[in-house]
Amino acid sequence: MTKKREAKKVFIVTGIPGVGKTSVIEAMLKKAEKVISEPIEMVNYGTVMLEVAKGENLVNSRDELRILPPQVQRRIQRIAGEKISKMAEDRIVIVDTHTLIITPDGYLVGLPEWVVTALEPHSIILVEADPNEIARRRSKDDTRERDKEFLNGIKEHQDLCRVAGIVCATLTGSIVKVIENRDGEVEQAAMNLLKMFEE
Ligand code: ATP
Ligand code: MG
Repeated sequence: MTKKREAKKVFIVTGIPGVGKTSVIEAMLKKAEKVISEPIEMVNYGTVMLEVAKGENLVNSRDELRILPPQVQRRIQRIAGEKISKMAEDRIVIVDTHTLIITPDGYLVGLPEWVVTALEPHSIILVEADPNEIARRRSKDDTRERDKEFLNGIKEHQDLCRVAGIVCATLTGSIVKVIENRDGEVEQAAMNLLKMFEE
């Protein structure tokens, strides 16, 4: 089926830490060249925030971002959102981001109203997996320092991400799509993501 995509060019890919967002997007981009004629780029919201925070000498590494005072995180979040929405003027931008960030005070919303309305996403894509598999992926991945969460915490976090995704879509009229990233099936998840961009 031929799909005519709307002018909106931001696609938010979200899900809890360790679910496989970055892996699925990277696998999709490898396949995208043959299928998508428009320029397409992935941007990690945390990386843009890190650049802003480093520019202000607030942190040295990305895993320090989430322990900054919430009001500072919010200010940096806003600046990052503005930068990303500018990027999307001439290309498709896939935003790899968290909907909820664990802070010492509780969850900080990663896509508050002022960020999501500035981004004006076409779609919000929720990458999900079995909580047991997520826990295993986190424990095997020594490239990152992720917060320790027990299984019921992982489940709560993932359930609340769904809620946050629907709230964001309610604010912006975006589409919400759930993509399962099963163990050993990144390629299948990447194919499902690619379908969203097919022309
Ligand atoms: P974060 O939000 O912390 O950046 P993420 O959602 O981007 O995490 P990744 O870094 O892509 O997650 O993946 C976490 C770990 O899980 C990596 O070691 C990755 O290789 C592994 N992984 C991702 N998807 C799968 C899968 N389908 N099967 C097995 N391992 C996977
Ligand atoms: Mg990632």
